[in-house]
Amino acid sequence: MSLPSSEIFVPRFRDECLLSRGTEVRDLLRVREETVLYVQPCTSERGKLMANIELRSGETECIDSGTLCALLEIHRRRFSELKCSQNLGVAKLMWKGREISIFKNGKIKIQRALNREEIIRVANSVARLIWGAELCEICGQPALNCASGACGKCVQEERVSIELDELPNAELLRQSQINLQLARKAAPDEAERLLNMARYQALFFTIEAPRKEDAVPGLVLLAEALQSGVPPKS
Ligand SMILES: [Zn+2]
Ligand SMILES: [Zn+2]
Repeated sequence: MSLPSSEIFVPRFRDECLLSRGTEVRDLLRVREETVLYVQPCTSERGKLMANIELRSGETECIDSGTLCALLEIHRRRFSELKCSQNLGVAKLMWKGREISIFKNGKIKIQRALNREEIIRVANSVARLIWGAELCEICGQPALNCASGACGKCVQEERVSIELDELPNAELLRQSQINLQLARKAAPDEAERLLNMARYQALFFTIEAPRKEDAVPGLVLLAEALQSGVPPKS
């Protein structure tokens, strides 16, 4: 078996593609102060905050429910509770002690937060977690389809080489790559286990990457791991 190289090639995406634009709540906040629409103490829990945040303004559907549930399923081991309804386009989860609701129109509700800084931090993690399910404005498909090239509209000709060692948490991406390679030669059951591991590591990398530019290789690898084998069941 050839060892994975220390560099990874990812496509360059068009400037207006959601993968290039990113989905940082922090960025949105700079542009529109009202992004955090409503912060107030929950009546039932004194001193604990609740916030409604929107990834995009308006009521139009901007998250693909099927992809949303699939992404949350991949990260399930990190949630103490998870419910996701593809039909309703709503997900509810408990993540690091916070109660989070995600709606297909891009609204996110965070409950039990301690302060505004924490709300922003949690909101940014959630935005990264569901980035792949958010609809790209160029092709109208979930960003994961842009990452895999399946949408046929967002990938540019050239590919960019990324030096793995220069990325924070590169080990997660490297492990994901190794598991993906191993899965291609493994027996079906073992292949499924390795692919699930590869998917988890690629998504975890995407969530943890400090900059959106660094997070993109995670989604590219995740898209590749989802195309191999059967997708995780929810
Ligand atoms: Zn796109
Ligand atoms: Zn696309």
